[in-house]
Amino acid sequence: MSLIELASNRSLWRGVYYYEDGMVMSFEKVSETIFAGKVRGNHSLPYNLILDISHPRKSTCTCPFAEGRRVICKHMIALYFTIFPDAYENFMKEVAAWELEEAESKEQHVEELRNDIAKLSRKELQDHLLNAWLEMEELRGDSW
Ligand SMILES: [Zn+2]
Repeated sequence: MSLIELASNRSLWRGVYYYEDGMVMSFEKVSETIFAGKVRGNHSLPYNLILDISHPRKSTCTCPFAEGRRVICKHMIALYFTIFPDAYENFMKEVAAWELEEAESKEQHVEELRNDIAKLSRKELQDHLLNAWLEMEELRGDSW
């Protein structure tokens, strides 16, 4: 699995923002698949990273989240996208395609509901509206 696939959603997106904000200070190629880098932290000192592309879980970062654990942190993601901007472009394209798909399936769902509702009688509509209304009140925590 790639670094991106191994990261939690939270680390991945925070890493995306770190990349976009230019938080990576420097990096160098150690070997074909290993990179060393420095990423700005929240405080004064930068974190030191080793990115192992072929074995992402062997990557290390000196931040409190990742130190001593085999997890992917936001700094690793930011460093990865800095070294491989194409991977960032591809990731964002995938996200855009996924969002479009979501929007289309929601549109389709609304259309189906609209068709179902069109078949209801006036009495059925009134009952459904009453139930929906009561449910909404309950969700809002209204009391009567
Ligand atoms: Zn880190």
